[in-house]
Amino acid sequence: MDLPHPLSHAYLITGGSGDSRAGLVKRLAAAYLCQGERPPCGRCAPCRKVLAGVHPDVSYTGPAPGKQETGVDQIRALRSDAYIRPNEGRRKVYVIDPADAMNPAAQNALLKVLEEGPAYAAFLLSAGRPGVLLDTVRSRCELLALPPEEPEPDPALAAQASSLAELLLGGGELDCARALVELELSKPKADQLSALLTAVESQVSARLARNPRRGAQVLRALKACRENAVYRPGAGHTLGWLVTQLF
Ligand SMILES: [Zn+2]
Repeated sequence: MDLPHPLSHAYLITGGSGDSRAGLVKRLAAAYLCQGERPPCGRCAPCRKVLAGVHPDVSYTGPAPGKQETGVDQIRALRSDAYIRPNEGRRKVYVIDPADAMNPAAQNALLKVLEEGPAYAAFLLSAGRPGVLLDTVRSRCELLALPPEEPEPDPALAAQASSLAELLLGGGELDCARALVELELSKPKADQLSALLTAVESQVSARLARNPRRGAQVLRALKACRENAVYRPGAGHTLGWLVTQLF
């Protein structure tokens, strides 16, 4: 994600995964303190310190060990710290992660410093469940929403989907029926079958140019199959039906 420019004094970072949010938080923290030409340059001394997690002007606040919540005392401590000038940078960066772990009293304590804190103070709130935050806190931050993460593709599933797609597009009735019976005998669970059929759909779409008529027919059948599977969850039904749609 491209970083906003110029930087606002407070961001609420949502979406993605905990890791991708943490990555964005680090880049933003480095951008506030960077002395290079295009912040964050990643090479200047402040950037390197932020990325290594040792910059004295970046602090992290989250639940204390063994606790679920970030309490009001922690935020009060953050607030008093914010009125002490930066140690060596131009800004002081307060990362609150996960921000949705702050209880309501803690969030209320944060409000004042979010609104009237010193100009050098910057706040990065990372939250997987931004709905838990008070509207008043949310409205004082600019929102940065990361796109949802695609799950890692499963190579075995991709290979199976690819050979099935080939067969459905170019194979004869008997070969297709045989492959589908084999698949049925492997007793896939409903969610495995649905993941496989979804993968087959995308493989068929990718090969559509090779055989547009048959391809379109296969895609229609797979789509109907996916929809029907909701009502008839047996793999045998689903796969048997698929063959009747194709031949
Ligand atoms: Zn830099």
